[in-house]
Amino acid sequence: MKKINFSKIFTPFYQDLAVDLGTANSLVYVKGKGVVIREPSVVAINQKTGQILAIGREAKIMVGRTPGHILAIKPLVRGVISDFEVTEQMLRYFFEKTKKNSPSFLPSFPRVVIGIPCGTTEVERRAVERAARSAGAKEVYLIEEPIAAAIGAKLPIQEAKGVFIIDIGGGTTEVAVISLGGIVTFRSLKIAGDQFNHDIIQYIQQKYKLLIGERTAEEAKIAIGSAISTKEDLKATVRGRNLITGLPDEIIITSEDIKRAIEKSISQIVEAIKATIDETPPEILSDVMQEGIYLVGGGALLRNIDILIKNEVKMPVKIIDDPLTAVVRGGGIVIENLDKYREVLTKNLSEELS
Ligand code: ADP
Ligand code: MG
Repeated sequence: MKKINFSKIFTPFYQDLAVDLGTANSLVYVKGKGVVIREPSVVAINQKTGQILAIGREAKIMVGRTPGHILAIKPLVRGVISDFEVTEQMLRYFFEKTKKNSPSFLPSFPRVVIGIPCGTTEVERRAVERAARSAGAKEVYLIEEPIAAAIGAKLPIQEAKGVFIIDIGGGTTEVAVISLGGIVTFRSLKIAGDQFNHDIIQYIQQKYKLLIGERTAEEAKIAIGSAISTKEDLKATVRGRNLITGLPDEIIITSEDIKRAIEKSISQIVEAIKATIDETPPEILSDVMQEGIYLVGGGALLRNIDILIKNEVKMPVKIIDDPLTAVVRGGGIVIENLDKYREVLTKNLSEELS
């Protein structure tokens, strides 16, 4: 008698998901639907009661504005879980949100693909898997983020051809070379968007004696930031506290200010890229010289970052379309075609154990 494959019968009822659990932003892709959640990875908690007050965008607004007993927590640091309970709660909230849109009679035990940074330890990977399971995932598959980003960008990562990817996120910049579905060489440094924000705060404090908040710095970076000096020097008004008078004040800063503020950090990223190029096998390097280097992550949106890198490494540099969603879109492609991509997934830890 033919054995009935129950998993086959029930699979269509699951809401399979792909998750990009980023230091700055978390995104969720629902199978058959696309990207449905894009929220900052921030959770606001009442420290006295332990109660969660807000998650995502609402919680981010509270950063720097909370009274003493309310904490706005970023549960991921450098792409790795630093606060397990809060990460789990955040995931549960996202999973619940994806459920809402589907008929309630359907069971919801999703299979979930989650991106992890390269070079995470087994303990860190296990924490991601455990958090996702306790948030309601039935099966958890981990994928290294540069691989997910490359899949999201429809790059041929399963071929014997080198793909060079730079992901400039909130907490880290990851430089990775991929071939035959695996990471050939990679480098991760703690300098990325958050560091740029801190650089801007420091620069404005020194040059203009004005103390601004993190959100203000980020808004200015996005509005007028540039990696190189440009003819069209954009301007933005920023508000903060005048450090001499102690009173509120506002000044006008330019793209050139931002460029100067972040140039040290940018050159550290360039050094990491050059060091990775040094370690890349020559055959792969020849592919990269033809194909170019791909930029992804929110930092790829910094004006002229592609031109700066191109000038430094003398190779073509391309920005992946919609660089903030590439990782989760790649995860989405994987969850839609699990069998095709099984070999690019990081080994399922539970399988390893059993
Ligand atoms: P992560 O994967 O670490 O969560 P993201 O890829 O979501 O990070 O990128 C977030 C970072 O990108 C933040 O530091 C944010 O300030 C920065 N960012 C977003 N948009 C822009 C932009 N237009 N210009 C410069 N930086 C940007
Ligand atoms: Mg990311």
